[in-house]
Amino acid sequence: MSQFRKTPALTILVAGGAGFLGSHLCDTLLDSGHSVICVDNFLTGRLENISSLLGRPRFRLVEQDVCQPIALEGPVDRIVNMACAASPPRYQADPIHTTRTCVVGTLNLLELAVAKGARFLQASTSEVYGDPEQHPQHEDYVGHVNCTGPRACYDEGKRTAETLCFDYLRADRADVRVARIFNTYGPRMDPADGRIVSNLVMQALEKRPLTIFGDGQQSRSFCYVTDLVEGLLRLMEIDPNPRQPVNLGNPGEFTILELASLVRKMTGTRSTVTFLPLPQDDPRRRRPDITRAKTLLGWRPKVALRDGLLATIAYFADLDDSGAEPINAVTRPATDNTQNVPV
Ligand code: NAD
Repeated sequence: MSQFRKTPALTILVAGGAGFLGSHLCDTLLDSGHSVICVDNFLTGRLENISSLLGRPRFRLVEQDVCQPIALEGPVDRIVNMACAASPPRYQADPIHTTRTCVVGTLNLLELAVAKGARFLQASTSEVYGDPEQHPQHEDYVGHVNCTGPRACYDEGKRTAETLCFDYLRADRADVRVARIFNTYGPRMDPADGRIVSNLVMQALEKRPLTIFGDGQQSRSFCYVTDLVEGLLRLMEIDPNPRQPVNLGNPGEFTILELASLVRKMTGTRSTVTFLPLPQDDPRRRRPDITRAKTLLGWRPKVALRDGLLATIAYFADLDDSGAEPINAVTRPATDNTQNVPV
């Protein structure tokens, strides 16, 4: 568990708190003695993710779309903006709403931060680098994004959100921080939202063919959710404000074929592999340069892919057996310093 504790306890608004990452953040904050206000419209978030929190005295759920102005009574010390569908099929289902969420939603939350004098942490994404021509991706790289393609609602939406964040910071209106999150996985991923780790694991567990888009040689870096949450908390609390975006992700790089082979081995499935056409603008390579996070935050991921996958597979196996989401079934994997797993 994170060491993030502060006296006196803070009130922290987590927009998108019923989602995969947001719900883990809410857990950690509550366990560290803080009060949490979760604002979510349940577009992709799930009540099961926060059902164990609903009865807790310092947890409050506000069901609202962040595209609407947010009026809240009482103090708010921190705002974390995680509100936005993150998987391509989900954010492309209503691309205009995705752009609106990224832009208008972030604006509304920034205005709330100004009104409350709250510190603001933006969950940005490695997608701001687009299909990168620089490898690994350092924060100074300005990216290679197609602004008219089907991913643009998310990529450009998140880029504009960063623009807003840095303008509020430069204008001294709010203490804003920006995390660029790379692929993160773990328990509570939505098994049906089309992300690569959950897709492969569910297909393997259900003995269906594993689907790979393209030739599988494209690479990704996979960060386990507890590592990511720890990085977010460090960025939120570091003084002084770094005033620059910070990559958070695991620099271990795997091709999708390597990931599929690891999942096959670890689940013991005999599933075959089916290749499907690569979606438009799919990035070929992805790996964070985390020098800045290491230097500024003293942070680096600790959970090796194999250990994180063990916990994730166990979670999805429980789901598959029961047909329902197990409450509090988040398994904590062992941590070590290994970044790469031979497959
Ligand atoms: P998720 O889809 O599980 O969670 C997003 C949450 O935001 C959901 O609970 C959803 O209902 C809520 N939401 C969406 N639109 C909203 C709106 N207009 N108003 C209120 N709530 C809204 O996704 P996640 O993986 O937990 O991602 C959380 C954040 O982190 C996102 O902003 C995403 O862009 C960012 N991120 C995630 C990853 C990753 O690998 N998981 C990588 C990069 C960035």
